[in-house]
Amino acid sequence: MQSFNPPIRTLMGPGPSDVHPRILSAMARPTIGHLDPAFVGMMDEVKSLLQYAFQTQNQMTMPVSAPGSAGMETCFANLVEPGDKVIVCINGVFGMRMKENVERTGGVCVEVHDAWGTAVSPEKVEAALQANPDAKIVAFVHAETSTGACSDVKAICDIAHQHNCLTIVDAVTSLGGVELRVDDWGVDAIYSGTQKCLSCTPGLSPVSFNERALEKVRNRKTKVQSWFLDLNLVMGYWGQGVKRAYHHTAPINALYALHESLVMLKEEGLENSWARHAAMHEKLKAGLEEMGIKFVVDEAVRLPQLNSVWIPEGVDDAAVRSELLNTYNLEIGAGLGDFAGKVWRIGLMGFSAKESNVLFCLSALRKVLGK
Ligand SMILES: *Cc1c(COP(=O)(O)O)cnc(C)c1O
Repeated sequence: MQSFNPPIRTLMGPGPSDVHPRILSAMARPTIGHLDPAFVGMMDEVKSLLQYAFQTQNQMTMPVSAPGSAGMETCFANLVEPGDKVIVCINGVFGMRMKENVERTGGVCVEVHDAWGTAVSPEKVEAALQANPDAKIVAFVHAETSTGACSDVKAICDIAHQHNCLTIVDAVTSLGGVELRVDDWGVDAIYSGTQKCLSCTPGLSPVSFNERALEKVRNRKTKVQSWFLDLNLVMGYWGQGVKRAYHHTAPINALYALHESLVMLKEEGLENSWARHAAMHEKLKAGLEEMGIKFVVDEAVRLPQLNSVWIPEGVDDAAVRSELLNTYNLEIGAGLGDFAGKVWRIGLMGFSAKESNVLFCLSALRKVLGK
């Protein structure tokens, strides 16, 4: 056995995205204790930087010590009580995972389906709420990474609130890449990930809960089934004002990385980051269309950071992706679920959303497809 030295790749898939060298070097700084006053000071900065990224004043804004899927579980495990009816919008893989979460927390799932590649239909959500007046929660994905479709968070949250429901929003791929305003849009609970448009290493999941959502957590009749994800306990470590107590050993160096990535987001400015993702998408789109490659998602609801395109007829999906990887060290994403073998997903997330990557990806694809 020898040390592991990974190849140097360019990551243009659905995540992880390229990690900026500043973030990687932050991770290599000395490990200190999880209750060291210097570390606790950094935790407070991470919380306030996350409030900026989410555009929220929510006190309960912090990173869960595990990847995006754990942020998803944190929302469902804390907010869904056995018997609670939850409207789950499904327009791709991650909506299906939400349904799994509802069922595993003892909730009753009402599915609202939209075709893969389209946005969640607010009209269908309205109809489902009228048919299910006892529903307590509406859950949906802002940026469906399996398809590249963006849904209207504000419209769906408004409808949910008219029916006295809380909202759970998946912002794993949207945070930092497209406009997202947790407070203005009335999101009650939201989770994200570090390895997509924040360009950080995988393994942390920022979450944010407003007072309405926390009230439901505090008034639960049953204990949160997961000890590790129970916010009432986690807040003993991440909480404001109170003396911090040990809950679990925080992933210290991973949090240095998140801190650095959020400092970089603040330096660039959130709006500028959204604009950069949009501009890089336009450049990539122009080049792909020149090659005759067509997009899956309608322009009006297309995500700039996740470009789903139809694989041209007669082209061997796996052969192209493996040549891109082996010859050019370039990773693009395969299709998931219904889209496997039919679609490529080209990511322009975070540090990967830059012109040199766009040009590189276009010329490598042209070369490989030209064979
Ligand atoms: C990537 C992703 C997740 C899961 O995040 P992990 O960090 O892989 O656990 C959840 N939802 C969406 C929309 C995603 O893109």
